[in-house]
Amino acid sequence: MTDEPIKVGAKVEPLRKTRPCPECARPSAREHYPFCSDRCRNVDLSRWLKGSYAIPVSDDESKPGVQDDE
Ligand SMILES: [Zn+2]
Repeated sequence: MTDEPIKVGAKVEPLRKTRPCPECARPSAREHYPFCSDRCRNVDLSRWLKGSYAIPVSDDESKPGVQDDE
């Protein structure tokens, strides 16, 4: 008879702490850390290059040539 105490409310978490992707908040992948994918990393990089971080405008939806594959 198994009577192990059940931890109520305890979440099952991965051993390694993963940050959510800064772009889409999905769990990050190790090979793209701290992003979830190469795509998000490129989005972040291009933001930096364009200096968009200093400008509180989200215009990444209207970029020509960028196709969302989802
Ligand atoms: Zn992402």
